[in-house]
Amino acid sequence: MPKYIFITGGVVSSLGKGIASASIGRILEAKGLKVTLQKFDPYINVDSGTMNPYQHGEVYVTEDGAETDLDLGHYERFTNIVAGRVNNTTAGQIYHEVIAKERRGDFLGATIQVVPHITDAIKERIREATRGRRVDIVLSEIGGTVGDIESLPFLEAVRQFRHEVGRENSLFIHLTLVPFIRAAGELKTKPTQHSVGTLREIGIQPDILICRTEKKLTKALKDKIALFCNVDASAVIEARDVPTIYQVPLMFKEQKLDEVICRYLRIEYKAGSLYHWQKQVVQKVLSPKTSVKIAVVGKYIELQDAYKSIYEALRHGGIANDAEVVIKRVNAEKLLKKTAGYHLKGVFGILVPGGFGMRGIEGKVSAIQFARENKVPFLGICLGMQCATIEFARNVLQWKAANSTEFNKKTPYPVISLLEEQEGIENLGGTMRLGAYPCHVKKETLAYRAYRSEEVMERHRHRYEFNNKYREIFQKNGLRISGISPGGKLVEIIEIEDHPWFVACQFHPEFKSKPDKAHPLFREFIKSALDYQEKSKPPAGSTSVGSEISNKEAEKPVLAIERPT
Ligand code: GLN
Repeated sequence: MPKYIFITGGVVSSLGKGIASASIGRILEAKGLKVTLQKFDPYINVDSGTMNPYQHGEVYVTEDGAETDLDLGHYERFTNIVAGRVNNTTAGQIYHEVIAKERRGDFLGATIQVVPHITDAIKERIREATRGRRVDIVLSEIGGTVGDIESLPFLEAVRQFRHEVGRENSLFIHLTLVPFIRAAGELKTKPTQHSVGTLREIGIQPDILICRTEKKLTKALKDKIALFCNVDASAVIEARDVPTIYQVPLMFKEQKLDEVICRYLRIEYKAGSLYHWQKQVVQKVLSPKTSVKIAVVGKYIELQDAYKSIYEALRHGGIANDAEVVIKRVNAEKLLKKTAGYHLKGVFGILVPGGFGMRGIEGKVSAIQFARENKVPFLGICLGMQCATIEFARNVLQWKAANSTEFNKKTPYPVISLLEEQEGIENLGGTMRLGAYPCHVKKETLAYRAYRSEEVMERHRHRYEFNNKYREIFQKNGLRISGISPGGKLVEIIEIEDHPWFVACQFHPEFKSKPDKAHPLFREFIKSALDYQEKSKPPAGSTSVGSEISNKEAEKPVLAIERPT
């Protein structure tokens, strides 16, 4: 029988519950335990597919095509799990399911209530996470902050769950904040006490507290928290801000969080090691040999979370090449054809990510033109590939009005369009190509050089496709199609022949990149950026054009501003 760990959060949101959960998964996997992670989101949306990235951050896509919360990205990056639909449940899904049953008459006329019907459906989702496979530990993260009205049914469900499976089979971990009050010069434990008090009111006594803090928690402070919150002093874990999120598992292990979990859950203690993680990930992030600046040209640039997996995958590409990747976020709406050179000065690689809608398209096209004409390494993802196709049509084929039918239905050159069978389907949600599909990679291409394999599986989330009508003319004019769907029907990867590294793909490679195993396209993109940087270096003695890059004050690397929250 699996053991269950429930992770809740208190005091404020954005404490990094997802990263904490993923890190706990990592330290338990290091012991040879088989873990799975799931996220419960208390909002009413059925999934995050329709949610605005401004409010919710990126939509993370799983192998089986679920559009999920971005925390699943952390789970997949930190552990070996392959997440899917079962790993993310929203209140909307639960209500949808219960109401559908009620309409079908499955409840035989009973009055349908939050307790027991909604809570039963939630408990069923917890059990589903292990159905049909061997799992030693299920980690369930409850979204939201304790005290919110909307997370109550989830908390009640996990309270009942513990009652049913028993104490030795379940554990509550609560993540809180211990703020530093500058005027008093002190760390304060009261918010933690209050949030544990709120949990207790609903019948949950946490076993372990993970305390986010800017300053060290002294032994006296840990003892105080332990006493007032009724937990063991060894179960008060400090989670201090660290320079890279990938250090969090090491920080937990140093404080023996894995031992405490094993003790509570009566799991025979096996030491486990994070040596590889420390050497191959953390050390490489903390002491890179070199640094390279990459521009990401998108429309949700101000937001830390909207391109989360892209930023992480770029960082992984850096790790694989022993380099720090400094990301310059360029707002596509502000970039004009004549200002491209200004915005993209000093960058050695340009990435255009995915997106929906017209806003920022012209800026993206201009950035791509700049990359193509100046031979700057370029990686286009999904909408990025579509914009690269539009750019090629407009500026190489001279079809000035070329466009995607997503942005202009009447364009004379619909180089990106819906497939014929998609036309006329009203329900937009139903036409989206979602999840992992095979892609055939042609030999002797940049893509093949990266993958070193002719068959790959990549995740998709899009509606529009490269218009096959134009394949031939594009190819005759120097655009190489290096990846296609197995039947040859869909264009998956394009490249530019007369360019050192210009690759654009219809899928999202960022979802399959890991810190210790960078996605091949990201690894090669960063490598080509480093080569380009090397070539651009002026001869010794002259003034350096690369000086902007080493000037870390001028632009903080993403690593330094990203805390594990
Ligand atoms: N909007 C484009 C489409 O639907 C691209 C989607 C994306 O970049 N994820 O095809």
